[in-house]
Amino acid sequence: MAVDSCLFCRIVAGEVPAERVATGDGVLAFRDIEPRAPVHVLVVPERHVASVHELDDGASGLLADCFALCRQVAEQEGIADGYRVTTNVGERGGQSVAHLHFHVLGGRQLGHIDS
Ligand code: C5P
Repeated sequence: MAVDSCLFCRIVAGEVPAERVATGDGVLAFRDIEPRAPVHVLVVPERHVASVHELDDGASGLLADCFALCRQVAEQEGIADGYRVTTNVGERGGQSVAHLHFHVLGGRQLGHIDS
């Protein structure tokens, strides 16, 4: 997919509106427009990467920055006592936007992930 047609690249660029909640080192957090929990925030790297499956071996810094922002969001949103960070890979894995993103979900009792 061309980067200029990627929805999350356009959110990062400010071309598509989103409710931003935090920023980190090359990473952005914004509220999911269709929340599946009282807190549902997406953490995305500013640089386009399709999914974790496309990351190269040198991506540890990018991942550390993403997880640091996930932790910050959990603190900010008051859910640090229990939350989920998840990422889908490919259509068959439930991924609908082909730009790496981590769902930060919480604010209610979460069950096992089995669907
Ligand atoms: O893991 P998946 O790719 O399905 O997640 C994409 C998420 O992006 C969905 O939860 C969807 O609600 C969210 N989304 C959004 N803002 C948009 C389009 C999609 O928050 N403009």
